[in-house]
Amino acid sequence: MAERRLQVTSRLGLHARAAANLVRVASQFKSSLTIQRLDGNSEADAKSILSILTLAASRGTDLKIVASGEDEQEALEAVVGLFSRDFDEPEKDEGKYIARATNELRCKGLGVSDGVVIGRVLRLQEGTPNVYRAEIAETDLERERRRFRAAVRLSRRQLETIKARAEKELGRGHAYIFDAHLLFLQDAKLTRDVEDYIVKEHSNAEWAAKVVGDRLVSIYTQINDEYLRERGSDIEDVIQRLLANLTGEGPKYPNLSEDAVIVSTDLLPSTIAELNLSHVKAIATDAGGWTSHMAIIARGLGLTAVVGLRDFYQRTRTGDRIIVDARRGEVVLHPVEETIAHYQFTSADPAPAPPEAVECGPVKTLDGVEVSLRANVELPTEFHAVNNFGACGVGLFRSEFLLSRPGLMTSDVEQYETYKLLAEAAGEYGAIVRLFDVGGEVGPDVKERERNPALGLRAVRFSLRHKDIMRTQVRAILRAAAAGRLSLVIPMVADVADVRMAKRVIDEELERLTAENVPCSAVQIGVMIEVPSAVLTAEKIASEVDFFELGTNDLVQYTLAVDRGNDQVSEWFRTLHPAVLYGINRTLEAAKNAGIPVIVCGEMASTPVYAALLVGMGAIDLSMTPAMIPRVRAVLSQIKADDARAIVLKCLAAATADEVEELVRNEFPDLCRSRNS
Ligand code: PEP
Ligand code: MG
Repeated sequence: MAERRLQVTSRLGLHARAAANLVRVASQFKSSLTIQRLDGNSEADAKSILSILTLAASRGTDLKIVASGEDEQEALEAVVGLFSRDFDEPEKDEGKYIARATNELRCKGLGVSDGVVIGRVLRLQEGTPNVYRAEIAETDLERERRRFRAAVRLSRRQLETIKARAEKELGRGHAYIFDAHLLFLQDAKLTRDVEDYIVKEHSNAEWAAKVVGDRLVSIYTQINDEYLRERGSDIEDVIQRLLANLTGEGPKYPNLSEDAVIVSTDLLPSTIAELNLSHVKAIATDAGGWTSHMAIIARGLGLTAVVGLRDFYQRTRTGDRIIVDARRGEVVLHPVEETIAHYQFTSADPAPAPPEAVECGPVKTLDGVEVSLRANVELPTEFHAVNNFGACGVGLFRSEFLLSRPGLMTSDVEQYETYKLLAEAAGEYGAIVRLFDVGGEVGPDVKERERNPALGLRAVRFSLRHKDIMRTQVRAILRAAAAGRLSLVIPMVADVADVRMAKRVIDEELERLTAENVPCSAVQIGVMIEVPSAVLTAEKIASEVDFFELGTNDLVQYTLAVDRGNDQVSEWFRTLHPAVLYGINRTLEAAKNAGIPVIVCGEMASTPVYAALLVGMGAIDLSMTPAMIPRVRAVLSQIKADDARAIVLKCLAAATADEVEELVRNEFPDLCRSRNS
């Protein structure tokens, strides 16, 4: 046996690239090589990158290298030599890396709610798998191990391709991290532990990989050295790749710390629904716009959120310090102490609380037009807001947020209980439940992602394709309607044919429940008008339904062909585009002629100046984020509907969105000081 004591002198300590070099050198020898920390019991195998990294040996750490075997002396000399050359790393690259990791970085996005939050980054990557435990029979264990090995091979091939591309496009210095990823994949500490877990626990490979991966990552979160701790996210990356190759679906949700700021490229509504929101302080995403569902939910929950940050996600690591300033639409990564002190002062502003003496019931304009103000709600945790903000019941319950996981449907009983609670919260004005407005991201088809989900099997199309799911939901609504005032709205109908097909299913379920003597009640049936074909045939549709809901978010998206969640095209998302105004006006007129009510429930209704325009167009029923009700109430009580009508007529004569906005700014100067997107 040969041994030597030494100290880590390299500036970044024994980090991933250094460890990768060490493994490469150590693996050339037959002897076993261990590294021991002199200040504790931890010991690492010098041929295992994961083992080395868990030593958390930062600069100044005292170590002992022990070699044992036929070539122990040469092995020891080679390893000690590598340490003395600081792992053959170019000093200037390290400096670059430090700068990337710690410099204060400000990024501009779009603040979609209120508040300023100081917290720690928690990276959430959509499209990575949601993992469940499955019991594997003794006879299938070998097959499960083979499945795991195949996923490792596939991951390796992918990483080699990525590495080659990175080398070509960015240079060798930037590709090194994939060397470390490749070494993780062939490290027995990972692969052997996963296979052992499969066999010992009779576990499926996904679960075994997750358990072993979580253990490794959790060792990292306890490391004091900030730079080395960051490397935990490299292991996270590799585990996520493995899981994705094993399952090919769904997100993963790490444990949330108290001050978690979720950073993601994009967030699915179903992901938000599944997070423990009591621990989430804020959200920052690369994609998204004012009307993306994530933004709507963040506002509903009073969560601070900045979206449209482009390539911010890739600059972060779990655990980084971050400030999210939704008021200025800005995030600050690695804030320096002065910045934190400044924000601590600002964020001490109390968040706007519900007014103490909340006004209820409809609001009257100065010329006596009564306008109902209802609440849009997404999650059961928001139901209490209906009363807190004086809403006239619930104008829209986005029921799809009950579907918390891809591929997972809620049961009849769960839905029934939720709808009953909803009806209770809504009280005398009642609540309107929307049939699941899900697209490619949820449901049994989740494995077959659509190329263009917004134009795909979304909303009513999804329900008509999956009638069993639709029937379950309809039954739950009809049963809950026996206990409180509920109506039902069908999302995204394109024409009368959609309406008739959906109504037939609803009628059949009502008949069936009645025949089975199950307590239930018939409900009013409405449709969401949110695609141009529905606007153009609104008169025909109006004769088939009890009410309309105007979904202005989608109406803008589909009328202008602008993806509402894509920040790259957000400047084309113009709520006040004349074409959108024609669509709204036409829909309101068709409903008036047919004698049915229209509830405007897109984000337009929550924006005071737009609400005034809607009233000018004849809308008398608006549904919005509950917290916005007092502001909209205050504004509408100060205007005359007739004046608003005169302004609307000028807007309808304008040719471009710019012209309309200019008109509105001139005519409603006070209102335009509040949000005007
Ligand atoms: C809308 O499209 O305006 C709407 C209210 O529905 P959602 O935002 O849920 O699509
Ligand atoms: Mg919609």
